[in-house]
Amino acid sequence: MFAGKTTKLIGLYNESPFMNDEKLAVKPLLDQRYNATRINSHGGLQMLAHRIGKAEEIYPLLTETTREVYIDEVQFMGPYVIEVIGEIMMNNIHVIAAGLDKDYMARDFGPMAALKKLATQRIEVKAQCHICKKPANFTYREPGTDDLVVVGHSDMYQARCEEHWLQGMEGRKEISSPA
Ligand SMILES: [Zn+2]
Repeated sequence: MFAGKTTKLIGLYNESPFMNDEKLAVKPLLDQRYNATRINSHGGLQMLAHRIGKAEEIYPLLTETTREVYIDEVQFMGPYVIEVIGEIMMNNIHVIAAGLDKDYMARDFGPMAALKKLATQRIEVKAQCHICKKPANFTYREPGTDDLVVVGHSDMYQARCEEHWLQGMEGRKEISSPA
C-alpha cells in the first residue's frame, strides 16, 4: 500500500536477471485498486500479475520455466499461504513476497510471523507517518467498516507513527472492547 513495499516488490521483479516467462507475479483478487492485471506502485512502476483468490491458485500457474514467484499483499492469500510457499520453495523456485506486518488494530497479520521464519532474507520497508512524516509502524484505517480485510482506495489506509495511530484510534469502540 503506502509503505513502498509494492514499489520494492516491483523493483525486485524488474531487477531480476530472469526472463519474463521465468517470473510469475500474483496479487489477491480482492485488491480492486488500479488495473486488473497489473500491480502498480504509487511511483508508477508496473508489473504484470495474475489475480488469485488464494495461495493454492498459484500451483496451476507454475510452468516448467518458472524460477521466481512474486506475491503482493501476501497477508490476504488465505489460510494455506505458508504451506503453499513452502512447497513452491521445495521445488527450487524462489519466492518473493510483500505483505503488511500488522493490521489496523496493530495485531500481527495472519501469516506474517510464520512467513518471517520461513524467509531467508527480509527487507523492511518503513513508511512515513501520514501526519508528521516520522517513521511509521502502524496502519490506520478510516472508521466505517470493521471488516479485517478491506483493500480499497489507498486513502482508506494511512501509515502512522504510534502517537498518531493512538490519536486516531481514540474513542473508537473496537480498541476499548476486549478481544
Ligand atoms: Zn506521526
